[in-house]
Amino acid sequence: MTARDRAIETIANHRVAPTQNYLEDAGADIYGQYVFHDAAQRQYLAKPIYEKLRQTIDGHEPFDPAIVDAVAHGVKEWALAHGATHFTHWFVPMTGSTAEKHDSFLTPTSEGSSIAEFSGRNLVQGEPDASSFPSGGIRATFEARGYTAWDVTSPIFLQVEPNGVTMTIPTGYVSFTGEALDHKIPLLRSQEALGTQALRVLRWFGNATSKRVFTTIGPEQEYFLVDRRLALQRPDLILTGRTLFGAPSPKGQELEDQYFGPIRERILAFMMDLDRELWRLGIPARTRHNEVAPGQFEMAPVFEATSVGSDHNMIVMSTMRRLAAQHSLMFLIHEKPFAGINGSGKHNNWSMATDDGENLLDPGNDPHANAQFLAFLMAVVRGVNCHADLLRASIADAGQDHRLGANEAPPAIMSIFLGSQLEDVIAQLEKGPAAASKQGGNVALGVTSLPVLPKDATDRNRTSPFAFTGNKFEFRAVGSSAPIYWPQTVLNTAVADSLKELADALDGLTPGDFEGLTKILSGIVRDHKQVLFEGNNYAEEWHTEAARRGLPNNRTTVDALPALATDKARDLFSRFGVLSERELASRVDIFWERYVKVGNIEASCALDIARTMILPAAVRYLGELATASASRGATVVAGRVAKLIDDLVAAVDALEAAQHEAHDQDSVPAEAKVVVDRVIPAQEALRTAADALEAVVSDELWPLPKYRELLFQY
Ligand code: ADP
Ligand code: MG
Repeated sequence: MTARDRAIETIANHRVAPTQNYLEDAGADIYGQYVFHDAAQRQYLAKPIYEKLRQTIDGHEPFDPAIVDAVAHGVKEWALAHGATHFTHWFVPMTGSTAEKHDSFLTPTSEGSSIAEFSGRNLVQGEPDASSFPSGGIRATFEARGYTAWDVTSPIFLQVEPNGVTMTIPTGYVSFTGEALDHKIPLLRSQEALGTQALRVLRWFGNATSKRVFTTIGPEQEYFLVDRRLALQRPDLILTGRTLFGAPSPKGQELEDQYFGPIRERILAFMMDLDRELWRLGIPARTRHNEVAPGQFEMAPVFEATSVGSDHNMIVMSTMRRLAAQHSLMFLIHEKPFAGINGSGKHNNWSMATDDGENLLDPGNDPHANAQFLAFLMAVVRGVNCHADLLRASIADAGQDHRLGANEAPPAIMSIFLGSQLEDVIAQLEKGPAAASKQGGNVALGVTSLPVLPKDATDRNRTSPFAFTGNKFEFRAVGSSAPIYWPQTVLNTAVADSLKELADALDGLTPGDFEGLTKILSGIVRDHKQVLFEGNNYAEEWHTEAARRGLPNNRTTVDALPALATDKARDLFSRFGVLSERELASRVDIFWERYVKVGNIEASCALDIARTMILPAAVRYLGELATASASRGATVVAGRVAKLIDDLVAAVDALEAAQHEAHDQDSVPAEAKVVVDRVIPAQEALRTAADALEAVVSDELWPLPKYRELLFQY
């Protein structure tokens, strides 16, 4: 019996262990249990302290240092009451994962006992001495200090593990010199940039009451689950998160019977636990279903403010990973864990909202609201068109290169889908007020002449990377594993840029001059309609058409990243105070390095598996065939196997040579170029050789769990 057989036998006998007391734990009672939310703040803070803190959380006032000790005391009492023994500053360094270092609350006293201590300083600032985080050259080792600073807007939460509880404080991470070393700080800055410009536009429309505009995010998360006992036999899954080898399963996703299909008991057990845990963490998990590929699933939360929603998405991914292990499952978040079937993405539903609850991308109920809606809509259109290259770069990484443009995910060309009705409105808008009034005043933005736009009349276009869906945009090209801070930062900044231009133009226009507004908007339509595309984004003709329109089409990460090193990018990010030139340059360095490192890890892992697992299995099989040389059939097969082994060995040598060539480059971008042009194709060739062997070598000898086992046995 092979290890694969034993694993499969265990899986066959696997029974779901029911979670205790789930009836008592249902829904509303547990929501936010692990969060220092509004009710907990009321309970543990004196009223004036609570009120001051609330003002900051709601974005109305800067944090008042005078209250920090009182807040620290209250939150400590709350955490201790929930069994916490430790606290941690939690942040998102440029590694793309979250980071934390735990400190115990306990402080020894001179009497030999200890007390629980947690000062205001502990709350607002930490010094993780994090010299090993990537800084892209910002931080020399002699000034290796980095500081974490409490992000008051993101709720403090408890990480409750089987053996204890840690109070977790979301923070930003900055260098000694005040430069952002994380994903969070630029996002917060971009929110502010967008909010400032959006308010200017709103004031023109007569809104005198909203104090703040922020962006909202509802990230739909796709992921795979496979049985852990099988997955642990695959070094590629463990080390790279995807299968580097694997012949296609005789059955893949062609029957599409997985999509929205009944959820298997074992998976649903995981999902039930997941939802309860997320609710406890105050994360509004809403929908769950089977996705298209076998073994693939999706979770969507209710939308939240972008900074909180982005933190929550990190917690969603880590909670999925943790709970999957409890269910003997392995959680796969890679963009393309399996060749030949769909990969995973994240659909970032995005909009802009005011603090008094108005969704600025909601067409609204009357012509005046429609005019404002169209102004914000066109600002997004302009932003995406002007900065399509940056948006593309914001979702680029090694994993995405296997997915974008691969007939299941949007192509690398950024375009916007508006739906036929809005397209029609835009087309009329382009002709300006005069032409519009000729058509019965259909779209002139005069308060009396604009029709009420029917609600949610948009069609669906599932192939568009950036689709309007009735009252929000869906940025559908984001990778499944990506922290969403960075793409949202770029989007916010691009739209802030447009809103600023719009607000500047409106400054010269009397409020209420809707004819003037129409002129401005028709100008935007004329200049930026090239980014609008209603057709099938997966079709080859779109590539030709997009090229004709001059839209950027950066197919790989190596093609995409240079957009971040242009004057246009530096100017945009520094003008809005989102990233200084140094901060941007450091990020670009980190992205290049990461790409090269991932490429190198995957190539090394593939070489390792090919040499020490696949080749020996093939040679052993050849030996078996040789002992059966009396059979003519066996001799024929032996000849074929021998040839495939030769191919495999040649492919191993070629990949190794390509890897050496990459190492020999004298800059990281040059190395990345060799990775994409030589290493990845060589690795693909090695895979082809190995997969061909998988199709002939005795199943008993094959060392890696196969696609048919990983995808259909759980
Ligand atoms: P649809 O069925 O049109 O995709 P849903 O209402 O199911 O829309 O929402 C899909 C996702 O979009 C959910 O995560 C939801 O919370 C999110 N969403 C809805 N409205 C907004 C908004 N104004 N801003 C950001 N995300 C939103
Ligand atoms: Mg959707």
